[in-house]
Amino acid sequence: MVVNPATEELVAKVPATTPGEVHAAVVRATAAQTAWAALAPADRARTLRRFAAVVDAHSEELAVLEVAEAGHPLGNARWEAGNVRDLLDYSAGGVERLTGSQIPVAGGVNLTFAEPLGVVAVIAPWNFPMPVAAWGTAPALAAGNAVLLKPAETTPLTALRLAELGLEAGLPEGLFQVLPGEGPVTGTALVEHPGVAKVVFTGSTAVGKQIMARCAASVKPVTLELGGKSPNIVFADADLERAAAAAPGSFLDNTGQDCCARSRILVQRSVYDRFLALLEPAVHAFTVGDPADEATAMGPLASARQRARVRSYVPEDAPALIRGRAPEGPGFWYPATVLEAAPGERAAVEEVFGPVAVIAPFEDEADAVRLANDTEYGLSGSLWTRDGARALRVSRAVAAGNLSVNSHSSVRYSTPFGGYKQSGLGRELGPGALAAFTETKNVFISTEESQ
Ligand code: NAD
Repeated sequence: MVVNPATEELVAKVPATTPGEVHAAVVRATAAQTAWAALAPADRARTLRRFAAVVDAHSEELAVLEVAEAGHPLGNARWEAGNVRDLLDYSAGGVERLTGSQIPVAGGVNLTFAEPLGVVAVIAPWNFPMPVAAWGTAPALAAGNAVLLKPAETTPLTALRLAELGLEAGLPEGLFQVLPGEGPVTGTALVEHPGVAKVVFTGSTAVGKQIMARCAASVKPVTLELGGKSPNIVFADADLERAAAAAPGSFLDNTGQDCCARSRILVQRSVYDRFLALLEPAVHAFTVGDPADEATAMGPLASARQRARVRSYVPEDAPALIRGRAPEGPGFWYPATVLEAAPGERAAVEEVFGPVAVIAPFEDEADAVRLANDTEYGLSGSLWTRDGARALRVSRAVAAGNLSVNSHSSVRYSTPFGGYKQSGLGRELGPGALAAFTETKNVFISTEESQ
């Protein structure tokens, strides 16, 4: 059931895919994949470029759909539609660059081939339904695979529309299918199906562990993009005004429902009070309201369930250093909240997945690195400093997959993305994205003369 998070109105009811239908989808995808992989690389690339162009032509429609099903502010949703288009174009560019190699050996010629895996399952979350679906789908298709995409229960609409647009662009029937349904039913049927060669999962660490265990039963490769509890480290030598102005976006974007949210703010003690004084007006300036309004920076949480989860960490009347405003009336609203990190507090350790950050002082660089790494996660992180050598030292010392210096950006379609520790396994996006959807085959050809 799809409910608009800003109005609580029913948007759509989408039937779930049964395990029998999953099986039929795998059969169709297998047939389509064989023909797709046999196409001339230039033809596959051309079809994906057409897909990018069709997405571009429908980008406003896709953005509006993302606003309705996920409550994302329209400006963000437009960026997301653009990210899908750009990734399709980028993946198309990789088709003809996906090469094998020739390795010098004695007695013959040794060749390697990058071969498609077959049918790939992509299981997507509700927090960024459209781009995350594309992160697995675009490179997998480009590398010659078929894709079966299971969107989250509450956000299937953009995924279903993308599949229609793929057909319009000329993707073969059955090559890219969307299978909505419950995780434990439709998702499990996909993960366990012997005709599925790889699983790409983005979601919670708890479900990621279950999926990895299921894949282990048949040694099925898996890419996992999981949770985070990322630090935002502000050194005393930073441009404090800039760091404070940027901090709200780093944990309030997407109402904090962002795996890369910098929800642990660590500030050097000598500038802690000054930073807090700058942060407070910046949080209040973060516009909250109707996500369909272009001026809105933060919309509602995605569902009643998600709001209950956030409240279970931080009741709205809990003492806070900074608390923003939440609209009255229908919608799953929750105010921006900054808490003083107390030892052992769940909100300081676990992924809240809401507009909540904790803030704590640190003494020196070693202390900052120790606190930053004091987590089971390792997805992202930011550091703010004017000292270039320190920027590099700390970036290398923080155990996370995506660090940014004097910035909070994490995602570019052309650079690798993924987590250390319990934030994930494998990488998406970037130059290696297509290779993650191939097997390497080694062939040795003897050049010995026969006697
Ligand atoms: P979730 O784990 O509840 O669900 C994710 C997807 O898995 C959904 O499609 C769901 O239907 C499906 N699913 C659930 N149980 C399943 C099962 N047993 N077998 C197969 N599929 C199953 O996660 P969520 O609440 O939708 O998403 C939020 C989480 O995703 C957060 O932890 C967030 O950090 C993480 N996330 C990570 C990234 C990343 O790139 N690292 C990106 C976005 C979100």
